[in-house]
Amino acid sequence: MTYSKIINKIRELYNSNSDEFIPLHAPVFIGNEKKYLNNCIDSTFVSSVGKFVDEFELKVAEYTGAKRAVSCVNGTNALHLALLLSGVERNDEVITQALTFIATANAISYAGAIPVFLDVDKETMGLSPKATKIWLKENSEIKNGSCYNKNTGRRIKACVPMHTFGHPVLIEDLLEICTKYNIELVEDAAESLGSFYKRKHTGTYGKIGVLSFNGNKTITTGGGGMLLFNDLELAAKAKHLTTQAKVPHKWEFVHDEIGYNYRMPNINAAIGCAQMEKIDFILENKRQTANQYKAIFENFEEINFFNEPKNARSNYWLNVIVLTDKTERDKFLAFSNSNKVMTRPVWQLMHKLPMFSNCQTDDLLNSVWFEERIVNLPSSVNVKMDNNL
Ligand SMILES: *Cc1c(COP(=O)(O)O)cnc(C)c1O
Repeated sequence: MTYSKIINKIRELYNSNSDEFIPLHAPVFIGNEKKYLNNCIDSTFVSSVGKFVDEFELKVAEYTGAKRAVSCVNGTNALHLALLLSGVERNDEVITQALTFIATANAISYAGAIPVFLDVDKETMGLSPKATKIWLKENSEIKNGSCYNKNTGRRIKACVPMHTFGHPVLIEDLLEICTKYNIELVEDAAESLGSFYKRKHTGTYGKIGVLSFNGNKTITTGGGGMLLFNDLELAAKAKHLTTQAKVPHKWEFVHDEIGYNYRMPNINAAIGCAQMEKIDFILENKRQTANQYKAIFENFEEINFFNEPKNARSNYWLNVIVLTDKTERDKFLAFSNSNKVMTRPVWQLMHKLPMFSNCQTDDLLNSVWFEERIVNLPSSVNVKMDNNL
């Protein structure tokens, strides 16, 4: 049977025997994590102040090419802040893709805004510039320099594309559309640390980009997020908002607006510093795994391995195969998971969830097509592949 052949190939790839569980994406700690953690504890600066926070922010800024990076407790609240900093207010509308993780839509809701769910492209699995253009043309008008929805009367303030499973969206086209319609572009790059579009890091095209360092992401801090900025003034504002909007003073508690406690603790940043030191190795190892999957699925005509889009270098965070239909997808999920090889379908489309069921959408043809067919394969760094560890 085809599926048992595939499972054997995956076990071979991960050098695992048949009763070993293969997770979808496990973190790896192969560098200075323990050393920096000890150093952090010895210093007693384990909380929101400390040298590792500054170091981690500098390392991420340098790696991504952002002018400044500001750390957060997690990616979801980094997204929330990014929307507030983009001027999103209560009852505004925010365009995003229906095929995304719930965090994108939740963050829009935290800002009091209402998501509009549009279709994705077949080549990227991310927000389709074509679909966005068509929807805006049919449903929006510009009044006093702002974009408004003709049907609801609400302002359309921001657009949040997501680089699905690390594959970059057509971000230049989206930027052009957003500029034309006066809509702020916020990139949900939570899954795409190490992914580049035309050699420029994802998350650095828009006004603000957001990364996540959750335990299942490309690198982890246990939990954590990061905001990427090209605008230093906006970055300073972000730091202020993550710190209860506290105005520096020698002893007084002065706060000049409603702020948040969204700072990343030093102890998490310590792990992040060690992880960033290994980023090139991690990405190279994941690319090798992707190449091995590609070779495996060349032998199965009815299953397509999802390749990085044109002009893009993907981090291959989670490897994707596309099966022929929902029945086959469900059969494959059942077979692999019952054989201790962890695989997952893509998320349910956002507009199908009860809290977002009244939201506007377009036809979502590609989103529905993907939802029925996508399976994520085990994609952890393969520690047995390489003896350079
Ligand atoms: C992981 C993720 C986030 C943020 O997640 P946190 O767990 O809060 O760090 C946001 N959007 C997407 C698409 C994600 O995959």
